[in-house]
Order: sequence, then C-alpha cells, then structure tokens
Amino acid sequence: MNYPVRFQNLLKTTKLSMPTKSLAARKNDLSNPVKQLEILSNGIFKSGELPYFKDKVAETSTAQLKPKKLEILQLNLGYMCNQTCSHCHVDAGPDRKEIMTVETMQQCLDVIKNTGAHTLDLTGGAPEMNPNFRWFVEEASKAGIQDFIVRSNLTIIRANKKYHDLPEFFKKHNVHVISSLPFYKREKTDRQRGKGVFDKSIEALKMLNAVGYGREGSNLKLDLVYNPSGAFLPTNQEALEKDFKKALKEDFDIDFNQLFAITNLPISRFLEYLIASENYEDYMYALVEAFNPSAVENVMCTNTLSVSWDGWLYDCDFNQMLGLKVASKIKHIKDYNEEVLQNRDIIISQHCYGCTAGAGSSCQGSVT
Ligand code: SF4
Ligand code: SF4
Repeated sequence: MNYPVRFQNLLKTTKLSMPTKSLAARKNDLSNPVKQLEILSNGIFKSGELPYFKDKVAETSTAQLKPKKLEILQLNLGYMCNQTCSHCHVDAGPDRKEIMTVETMQQCLDVIKNTGAHTLDLTGGAPEMNPNFRWFVEEASKAGIQDFIVRSNLTIIRANKKYHDLPEFFKKHNVHVISSLPFYKREKTDRQRGKGVFDKSIEALKMLNAVGYGREGSNLKLDLVYNPSGAFLPTNQEALEKDFKKALKEDFDIDFNQLFAITNLPISRFLEYLIASENYEDYMYALVEAFNPSAVENVMCTNTLSVSWDGWLYDCDFNQMLGLKVASKIKHIKDYNEEVLQNRDIIISQHCYGCTAGAGSSCQGSVT
C-alpha cells in the first residue's frame, strides 16, 4: 500500500482491529487535537482538490455560522467509559480518568437554573461512571428542565451490579434515555463496539422496556442512535427506524421511540480508522459531495452549547474533542453569561462537513 507521506507516522501506531485502549493511552499522535486539525486542514483541502468548509458555507444563504436561540445545554461528565468503541469521537475508554468534579457540577447547576435552554443533555464517556452522577441528576431534575437527556451506552446497565437499577433511577427522574445501538444484528454491533456488546445492549433494552421506557402509551422516552459501521454515510433515517423497529420487535420484543441516524465525523478514533483503512480521502470526498446547503442553517452548534468535564465551553461536543473553545470572552461555565455567549462566531473546520452531509447530522439525528 502507498500511504501518503503525511500519514506514515500515524500508521505505525494504527491498527484496524478493535482498539483496547484509547488513543491517549496508546500515545497515538492523533490523541493530540492539533494533529487532527492539521490533517483536516492540509492535504486535499490545502491543495484545493476540495473546498474548505468555511468557503462552502459562504456560498449558502447562511453565509456564516452564528448561534440562534440556545435550546440545548450538553454536559460531558467525563471521558471514562466501560467500552472502547472503534469509532468513538471522544476517545473514551476505561483508561480515561477525566471526570467532572462536584465543584464544576455545582457551577453547571447554577447555570441550569437560569438558562433559557429547554433541554439538558448529559453525555460522556459513560456519564453514569461519574461517581457523582446520581447526585447531579437528582439536583438537575429539580430545575424543571423540559427535556432531560442521559446518553447511556446501554452496556453500562449490565456492567456491574451497582448499575442494574439505573432503569428505575432514570424513571424516577423522568430522564429521557438516548442510547447507541449501531445495528440490530450482533455481528455489526460487536465489530464496532466490542465482543458481547450486542447481547448486553439487548438485555439493557429489555430492562428499560420492563420499567416502561419506549413502550406504547408510556411517557418514558427511549431513543436509539445508529451510526454507520464503516466509511460510508447513513441512509435514510425514517427507513432505518422502520427496519430497527421491525427487527428488534420480532427478534426480542423490544420497543423504542425514535431512531437517530448520525454521521461519523472524521475526528479522533474514527479518523484513526479512516486513515488506517485508507478511506480518509474518499470519505472526505463523500462528505463534501453530499454537502446539503439546507442542513447548514440547523447544525447542532446553532442551538447548543457544550460543556467539558472541566467546565470549558465549546460550540459542540466535536469542537470539544478538537480543543476548540468558544470564540467568546466567556470561555468557562463559572463565568457563564448567555447573552454574551450568544454573540459569538462558531468555530468551524473540515470536520463540520459531517454535520451537513445528506439530511444533516446532529446528536438528535437528521436536521432537515
Ligand atoms: S460507548 Fe460511546 S463514549 Fe463509550 S467508547 Fe463507545 S462511543 Fe465512546
Ligand atoms: S462539528 Fe460542531 S461546529 Fe461544526 S457544524 Fe457540526 S455542530 Fe457545528
């Protein structure tokens, strides 16, 4: 194989198999966001083969990405996770020790009580692994937020006895559960998320169904997230949802509410995979070719703010992983000022093509 020279160093430490450790623990060059941004700005983009994202946006009626009304506050409670999925954009895993402290949680709670956002979205890693997760959910649920989301990877519910009661805990606090399930078949799911993940996910879904989540007539919401298992874009969200519903019902009597189809963004471990499988350039071509001008208007960063485990503010979870703090004089949750923050410009780079391809992609699926 003739790999482009600029990727040679990365390939020495890059394998196609399921990673057992994060990029950070493997000391892979790609654990450095600067390196990732370099890749995304050079090569086919610097040579002019493909347009920079900012130039593509400038051609649309949106012209420049600016925040609209803040609707979603997304908090990353830490990068620790019980899984090490091959496509993880967080580079999460059991070896990551970054965890939100009670002090930062308290600063977040102060903001939650006063924000105009109607949705609170807790993510990770596995947010449930934060030792203060339950305390935080209890406190945050008192703030009367309309939609309180926890992104649960499902297997955490089965990982240890201490997590077995999570479905009841979620129910008690009327939490909206959003969970990844890359596919309704064992092989594809395990290939992306690790051996045994599919079976554990099915067990966890049954436990959530048993307390009422996703069942007809219940107000306990359970949504699933699909993301492609390789270097391709998701197909139609509605059609996928129908397939997932039919298969999970027939095979396991499992119900859920909605399916969100999410595009893998070319960062972190998915970028590692793209490079190692020699798909990086083709994938970027596919994303650029699928650029949908009408998706630009509603990309996630226009109504969301992302807070990292250590309280820094970002336009979205992806920018967080790339170390791109908000372009505002307010950069930390302790200094939060919604009005000042809403006046910022959104920081963009070529990874953003993942949000505007086809029907668009956000943490809540398609945007068009
Ligand atoms: S479960 Fe989610 S956070 Fe954890 S490694 Fe997999 S993709 Fe990353
Ligand atoms: S990656 Fe983030 S900043 Fe870029 S378009 Fe998507 S949501 Fe916006």
